[in-house]
Amino acid sequence: MSTKSVLSDAREVQLAVSLIELGARLQFMEANVGLSRERLIRLYKELRGVSPPKGLLPYSTDWYMTWLANIHSSMFYGMYQFMKKHSDEEQIHVLIKSYRLYLEQVESQGGEAVLDFTRAQMMVRFFDSDLLHQCTCTRCAGRYVTHAYDTRQDYVCVLCRPPSRAGKAKLNKTPAASDSQSMYPTSATYLLDPAGDPHGLH
Ligand SMILES: [Zn+2]
Repeated sequence: MSTKSVLSDAREVQLAVSLIELGARLQFMEANVGLSRERLIRLYKELRGVSPPKGLLPYSTDWYMTWLANIHSSMFYGMYQFMKKHSDEEQIHVLIKSYRLYLEQVESQGGEAVLDFTRAQMMVRFFDSDLLHQCTCTRCAGRYVTHAYDTRQDYVCVLCRPPSRAGKAKLNKTPAASDSQSMYPTSATYLLDPAGDPHGLH
C-alpha cells in the first residue's frame, strides 16, 4: 500500500468517525464514505457499542413544516448556506460543519436539538432536488423552509404566526431583531441573511 492510499484511508476513517458521532445512518455513510460496509459496521460498533440501526431514511418533506421543526430546520439551512458560501470543501464536510454549528448554537441557548443529522442531511437533498424552498417572511424578514409548491409572496413565518398550542410559550416574535431573549434557538442571523456574514459566528 502506498503512503497516499494509507493517508486517504485514514481520512475516510476520520470522516466515518465524525459521521457516526453525529448520528448518521449506515446507508448515508455507505454512499459518502470510501469504506466497505463491513468496516463501517465495525467502526460503528466500536464507537457506539451497538449495531447501526436499520430502517428507512425519512422520505417525507412534511416533517420540516411542523412548528418547532420548521424553526430549527430554517436555522440549520441558513447555517449550511453560510458554510457553503465560505468554504470550498466537499458538500459532506460542509454538511458536517454546519450540523456541528447547529448543535453548538442549540446547546449554547440551553435548547435541545430537534433536527437530527439524518433529517438535516435529507433536507439538503430535498433542497438540491427542488422539493423544498426558502420563503422570506413579510413580517420579520427571516428566511424559512417551505414546500417548493407552497412558495408565495405574502408568506408569514411560524414565529410571527405561531399555532395556538404555542400561545403560552414565551416567544420572541421578532427574531430578526434579537435572538438572545427567545427560549428557542432561532439564531436569527442565520434566518436573516444566509448569504452574508452572520454576526453570531466568531
Ligand atoms: Zn416572521
